[in-house]
Amino acid sequence: LGASRTFWELVERRAALTPDRPVLLQDDRTLTFEELRAGAERTAAGLHDMGVRPGTVVAWQLPTRIETVVLAMALTRLGAIQSPVIPFYRDREVSFALSASQAAFFAVPGTWRGFDHTAMAERVGAHGTFEAYTALPTGDPASLPAPPATGTDVRWIYWTSGTTSDPKGVLHTDRSLIAGGSCLAHALHLSEADTGSIAFPFAHIGGPDYLVMLLLYGFPAVLFEKFALPDALEGYRKHGVTVAGGSTAFYSMFLAEQRKQPNVRLIPTLRLLAGGGAPKPPEIHHAVVREMGVKLTHGYGMTEVPMITMGSPDDTEENLATTEGKPPPGMEIRIENNEVRLRGEAVCAGYLDPAHTAQAFDEDGFLITGDLGHLTPTGHLVLTGRLKDVIIRKGENISAKEIEDLLHSHPAVADAAVIGLPDPERGERVCAVVEQTTGTRPLTLSAITAHLRAEGLSTHKLPEQLEVVDALPRNETLRKVLKYRLRERYSGTVK
Ligand code: ATP
Ligand code: MG
Repeated sequence: LGASRTFWELVERRAALTPDRPVLLQDDRTLTFEELRAGAERTAAGLHDMGVRPGTVVAWQLPTRIETVVLAMALTRLGAIQSPVIPFYRDREVSFALSASQAAFFAVPGTWRGFDHTAMAERVGAHGTFEAYTALPTGDPASLPAPPATGTDVRWIYWTSGTTSDPKGVLHTDRSLIAGGSCLAHALHLSEADTGSIAFPFAHIGGPDYLVMLLLYGFPAVLFEKFALPDALEGYRKHGVTVAGGSTAFYSMFLAEQRKQPNVRLIPTLRLLAGGGAPKPPEIHHAVVREMGVKLTHGYGMTEVPMITMGSPDDTEENLATTEGKPPPGMEIRIENNEVRLRGEAVCAGYLDPAHTAQAFDEDGFLITGDLGHLTPTGHLVLTGRLKDVIIRKGENISAKEIEDLLHSHPAVADAAVIGLPDPERGERVCAVVEQTTGTRPLTLSAITAHLRAEGLSTHKLPEQLEVVDALPRNETLRKVLKYRLRERYSGTVK
């Protein structure tokens, strides 16, 4: 299976190996590997009848449901170029994504509440066909052309989170996504006996990445259309999930739930939390392991490279807590002036905008990530922050991440984001924005600076401003903190 060059090859081979094993579980529904294959083929024929051809750009904005995965695989069967749009995107972002990718078709559910179909139809009408479906199209597979023979053509357009600037369209091939999923599989050592879960939108690049792992191992995952705890616990328990995923905000949600009933195992079958994509303070790692009694592995990924490194459950707790794990064979990491550069099969083919592509790769073909880090003597990657997240105060570089990690060990801090704000005297000043743990005394700047001093943070890095908020602004996929929003909000404020 590992030698498969395209998604469709993977789907066909897995369906031939274990046709009747389940691949997707949702509410009371089960889809087997063979049903996925056959359903995708029928849908591909339906799409073909509508005029979708190899290379046609099809955007979709669909909830995380079984049909969405079938549609995605149908598009890979046809060799179309698909552009998944995050379900939470609204008018402005959707129009931008559609016109930038020159989508010829746009698939949305016919039952989407609050969705302005008329306005959307007008926009897409400029260069394509807009249809709202209540069911997937079907047709006779006999009419289909041969599936794509190579995995190296651009077949996916993904959008970055827009943390540092406007979202960028990223071009992926089947080969790069399969390499990303293989990295996950390589680190996690799962088996047919496992049951996974997809708690983030399937439209996120982590979706097909995870699907690759399911196809390689032959185990199922529970899909969550809307993820919220404690409601989602029922799904985990009912299907006996052994591996739950997500990212740091998800670990925190699980922990908060666990703390309501410290002596009862939250999900009895769960043995591993495996996620990534956002900074994970060591404090959260230790709390999860200690209080939930499960392993926690965390990885480094980005829209441009779905999986770069991943912690392995066989590794030491120390490495799992303080590093992002190791790269799989074939992923080259080069550190240049503390900045991470990447080369390998999982790296994207470039950006929609050729100007972005020209800037993003160095002369040896390494992708310049804008992430800061180093490799340990054992080959583990440690991330220390983002280039755009370094605060320069009186000419000294200060890592926001270092301060955030230390803030997490304060009992009244539920979550924290540290930002630099323009300051006439210092260039930038350090501002800590904190979500407070419910039921704790109001936090003050002097209380947090005393804590950070006690933790050994040097004086010139101490925050000079504290803002306590009910909720940090987050994106809707991995619930990453949107620091640019905080910078906008507090830029005009004075200490
Ligand atoms: P944009 O590129 O539009 O500014 P973004 O980079 O946040 O947005 P994504 O591709 O979703 O969009 O996120 C990738 C980034 O997330 C990485 O470059 C890195 O900064 C961060 N990240 C991913 N995994 C980790 C991790 N394990 N620890 C710390 N940061 C991480
Ligand atoms: Mg980025």
